[in-house]
Amino acid sequence: MASTDTLPIFRNEEELARLPASERIRYRLIGADCRYHANDNIAEHIREGEIDELKAEVQAKMQEVLQSLVIDTESDHNTNETAKRVAKMFIDEVFRGRYVKSPSVTEFPNFSRLNELMIVGPITVRSACSHHLCPILGKVWIGLLPNEHSNLIGLSKYVRLCDWVMSRPQIQEEAVVMLADELQERVKPDGLAIVMEADHFCMHWRGVKDDDSSMTNSVMRGSFLKDPNLRREFLALMSKKNNG
Ligand SMILES: [Zn+2]
Repeated sequence: MASTDTLPIFRNEEELARLPASERIRYRLIGADCRYHANDNIAEHIREGEIDELKAEVQAKMQEVLQSLVIDTESDHNTNETAKRVAKMFIDEVFRGRYVKSPSVTEFPNFSRLNELMIVGPITVRSACSHHLCPILGKVWIGLLPNEHSNLIGLSKYVRLCDWVMSRPQIQEEAVVMLADELQERVKPDGLAIVMEADHFCMHWRGVKDDDSSMTNSVMRGSFLKDPNLRREFLALMSKKNNG
């Protein structure tokens, strides 16, 4: 299989069709000068039917991983279908946010000119760390200070956007910034605050096996950065919501 370095500069559709779907998609990404890190969304470069091809590719390679782990998947009924299950889990579920387009979010003009602090959360976060592909489970709080030109979005849309950003292999520090960018673009508030608190299972399962392995990250923008009182109000309301 051609590695990225040896891909010729131009391939016609016929040549592309003969490549595995992952190579085809990578070819388009490189052609478009698009980054494709673990936490990037690449949906724009995936064509119809290619998701199923990707799943078949991942399944075949996962089967090889099991083979290299010297697991007898033929007589072990527990692992018979494991490669298939893992491929489906990666692409359709836990890393879905890489392969599907952003959820459609309807924005409403701020008719009633709300300009009070709004808090959304806690939103449940399910993600995975880019380093070990181990689960990250946690919560996110979003603070918004809208102005008369801001767009408002429905509560459930915050959850869907958050889920879309988090269901990728992530790094917590980058995940909160990505979520902030998505919200900034859609809502255009005067101030935006995000706090994420999450448990990293790679710390429980391996390594130091530290049971106190939660991590908190925050992003403060606009008025939350300039106004310490607003920041305090947000953090106080947040912890009140958190403790019931
Ligand atoms: Zn990790």
